[in-house]
Amino acid sequence: MSTTTGTHFFFKMEYQHIIIGGGCAGFQLAKTMLELPKESIRSILIIESSKVHAPKSWCFWSTISHPYRHLVEKEWHSLGFKAYQNQKNLPLQHQTYQYIDSTSFISHHLSLFAKDPRLTIVYKTVSGIEETENGCLVQCENGAYHSEYVYNSVPHLQEKPYLKPKVWQHFLGWEITTSENSFDTEKATLMDFDVDKNEDGRFIYILPFTEKRALVECTVFSTQEYALESFECSLRSYLEKKYSNDYTISKIERGTIPMMPKINAEITKRIIPIGTAAGCIKASTGYSFTRNLEHTTKIIGYLQGNNKRPKYAYSRFTFYDKLLLWIIENQQSEIKKIFYLLFKNNSIKNILMFLDERTSIVQDLRIFYFLPKRTFIKALIKSKLVDLAPIKFTIKRYLGSIKTAFTFWQKTEVVSMQKNIID
Ligand SMILES: Cc1cc2nc3c(=O)[nH]c(=O)nc-3n(C[C@H](O)[C@H](O)[C@H](O)COP(=O)(O)OP(=O)(O)OC[C@H]3O[C@@H](n4cnc5c(N)ncnc54)[C@H](O)[C@@H]3O)c2cc1C
Repeated sequence: MSTTTGTHFFFKMEYQHIIIGGGCAGFQLAKTMLELPKESIRSILIIESSKVHAPKSWCFWSTISHPYRHLVEKEWHSLGFKAYQNQKNLPLQHQTYQYIDSTSFISHHLSLFAKDPRLTIVYKTVSGIEETENGCLVQCENGAYHSEYVYNSVPHLQEKPYLKPKVWQHFLGWEITTSENSFDTEKATLMDFDVDKNEDGRFIYILPFTEKRALVECTVFSTQEYALESFECSLRSYLEKKYSNDYTISKIERGTIPMMPKINAEITKRIIPIGTAAGCIKASTGYSFTRNLEHTTKIIGYLQGNNKRPKYAYSRFTFYDKLLLWIIENQQSEIKKIFYLLFKNNSIKNILMFLDERTSIVQDLRIFYFLPKRTFIKALIKSKLVDLAPIKFTIKRYLGSIKTAFTFWQKTEVVSMQKNIID
């Protein structure tokens, strides 16, 4: 039954947990919560703004055991990379590159949730979250819900002013079918820079599902938006070159993914950011599926009292991501070279470990050693990511001492010369 309190009309008084956003992170969290003992999870409300789900092709590298294994429709044992006419075929060892159709992911969760009376989904747009004395108030179009805890995946609802990302990953993908066998079904192409007019570092990404069917995407990391024709033009000329126009388009996927460093999201006792709002999208790649899963595990650990509240932590990887974002923003043409050198000089195992933020500092140094040093040094200085004042101060001081020593030496030289002349 509904009641009214003050200016808020309550659809239902109380839920134990409210999840804002029924997407990747929200559904992963709800499913994992429902697997906890019934006495610890009494009720969950998911508030999702849209009944219509926009399909996405979710890919990630992983070992074969994970909670979504049964949803993996296709996996590849090798990754391809191409730039400056150099092609690399990179066999994966203990992992595969896996594909999940987000539509199957959503319908799988909806049918799971339908069987559990503890979970309710409403389709409304959340306009604000407020922490109250004894819980949280989640405001929607014409009312509000109350709960003990809120998990929010929508960045602009964060309490702290939400910084709009400057850099975005823009892409357009066509799922195509060819009449001849055209694709190697063992290999997904991560990046192929062999694209016409790719001064902006645009590249092609290919997921071959069968020998005749593949998703071919044109992607660019950029601060500016692109007209659809720009991607269509690149895709058309790439496909013409490779498959001589022998294809039909069956599906289109267009997307933009924010590339922003970990957000310093305000984490209160009761409002916990998840997914995009928690900075789970890796800034330099746009991947988040497995990061969302890791974050879910941390939240569940917190709910069970095993670990502290999952918190924003600035790590050296956040710093690396920020450097790359600065380069994308200011030296976009360097992107191709950076990825070329990264893939040329490192094993795929190390590259994936680095992107998963699992490398040691020594391994990081090895990776950076082979990257264009000038570009990164310039980014380091100009981006102002590092406070260079102490370094400048030390150099100044050091230079000061040299100057003093030099003046002293000059003076002693003059004195000894004068002495020599007198002698
Ligand atoms: C086309 C595309 C392809 C991608 N491919 C990959 C990939 O291959 N691998 C990978 O790891 N990542 C990929 N990503 C990035 C990332 O994994 C996804 O964006 C992922 O969905 C992020 O999870 P999320 O739960 O934070 O956001 P979402 O899945 O977008 O979920 C957020 C939900 O909140 C809802 N919402 C928004 N505002 C409100 C509001 N005010 N009130 C209530 N609900 C609201 C939205 O409708 C949405 O359903 C892709 C992204 C896109 C766009």
